[in-house]
Amino acid sequence: MIRTTIVIGLTMCLACGCSASKCAGDHTNAAKINIIPKPVEMTVGKGLFRIDTDTKIYAPTANTEAEQIAEYLAEMVKHRTGSGLEISRSRTSQTESNAITFHLEHRDDLGSEGYILSVRPDSILITASQPAGMFYAVQTIRQMLPEQIEDTTKEHYINLSVPCIYIKDRPVFVWRGLLLDCSRVFLEKKFLLRYIDLLALYKMNILQLHLTDDQGWRLEIKKYPELTELCSEFSDRYPDAKGGYYSQDDIKEMVEYARRRYVTVVPEIEMPGHSSSVFVAYPHLSCRGEKTEIFPFWKGPTITKDIFCAGNEDVYTFLENVLGEVVEMFDSEYIHIGGDEAPKDRWKECPKCQAMLARHNLTDEEHLQAYFTQRIEHFLNSKGRKLIGWDEILEGGLAKNAAVMSWRGTVGGIKAARMDHYVVMSPTSACYFDYDIRTTPLKETYLYNPVPAELPSDKRKFILGGQGNMWTQSAPTETAIDKHTFPRLIGLSEALWTPSELKDFDDFHNRLGAHYRRLDIMHVKYGPEK
Ligand SMILES: [Zn+2]
Repeated sequence: MIRTTIVIGLTMCLACGCSASKCAGDHTNAAKINIIPKPVEMTVGKGLFRIDTDTKIYAPTANTEAEQIAEYLAEMVKHRTGSGLEISRSRTSQTESNAITFHLEHRDDLGSEGYILSVRPDSILITASQPAGMFYAVQTIRQMLPEQIEDTTKEHYINLSVPCIYIKDRPVFVWRGLLLDCSRVFLEKKFLLRYIDLLALYKMNILQLHLTDDQGWRLEIKKYPELTELCSEFSDRYPDAKGGYYSQDDIKEMVEYARRRYVTVVPEIEMPGHSSSVFVAYPHLSCRGEKTEIFPFWKGPTITKDIFCAGNEDVYTFLENVLGEVVEMFDSEYIHIGGDEAPKDRWKECPKCQAMLARHNLTDEEHLQAYFTQRIEHFLNSKGRKLIGWDEILEGGLAKNAAVMSWRGTVGGIKAARMDHYVVMSPTSACYFDYDIRTTPLKETYLYNPVPAELPSDKRKFILGGQGNMWTQSAPTETAIDKHTFPRLIGLSEALWTPSELKDFDDFHNRLGAHYRRLDIMHVKYGPEK
């Protein structure tokens, strides 16, 4: 239900008709609360707190991140109150009237991302151990405000009432991710920034960018300008296929934009397979040394046999130089190196690869890939970063500190966790948003639990979380990507945040309706649920 529009200055509460400036009436608050992901603890009270032009925001002193979150909140309501809210950095009592107070306090029970949100008729108090928790409390407030808050196209006044409530909340999993494939289809920077906002709305915190593949190299590397001059564009034989790349300034802008929304951008640089776009400019890095061309996904092999030569030292130099610039651009703890679907046909016939295999007493080409991955891991670790790769990196022996992203079901993830390696679960069965909705319905994604029942309890801590993967070969437009990703991303957000014992699909489905109205206003397209 859309709440009545009011002009600021009018003190009558249109929700119940009372004349109090801060209504304490008994509204049916519960009916208005459709928070996704569902909070861990929630007690709905009576009455409303109304944000108006006189509402003040108090941010903790001497904390830049907290101040930025206060500014984010002020900006969020600016178009709706007629003016920005005043932000005070001064110390204040936590019960100040008509105020939203942010309070940082170390509490073990909140972890690094948890928060307590206490909304009373005269004040809102947000308590968190870390700024991330404060930011998520703001997202919870955002979801309790009328969906018109999302309409940033024009200024209009709406009743910014937040139901009185007590919420204590924290996520189950630390890795709550989405992959967007920018290689198969080049995605505009603006589109990626929009997705960072959408992830933040649902308290997701990882955006993995699939930046390189056979269909194009999308990342500026200053040491190798041909990667973007030649390797980011499709062959002239496909004039309709659109290439493109992100400059290092684009990436820095995205990383900073994401940082302010508590989203970490994880780059994926594919190796040794899915790399043939590189050989357009640097053919000597493949086993055969032949120049390749870049073809649209459906115009060539799904998996290209030409991959990086594992026996050529120039390859390791090239990749270390590339990754050296990658770690300067991205601030993520993990760097994803792909590692999937690397056919060994070329390695089996390549004298350099075979010589490398013999030199290191490796039994077969799978072990050669393990050797390759270990060298890359050694380099990343030397830069203070950790390696993560698809579950194929288990074959031939897992690199010492590597984390595994399990996509071919959960077997790889279970195996890695049993070996005390960290794991992100993204099985095709529940987490592949490019799959048709009839193959992977919303309910399948919603009910997914990244911790497999068969995993021993002492190994469960190695499951970092889960990730939805949106490959773009089957959804080559922004609208199609939206329709594949939504509403499944919303289902996944609750699967990764809310304890499994609190999950209930029917209840989730009831709340989802309000989110469709919000998505409509945000011009986010969504597909069917099944
Ligand atoms: Zn080779």
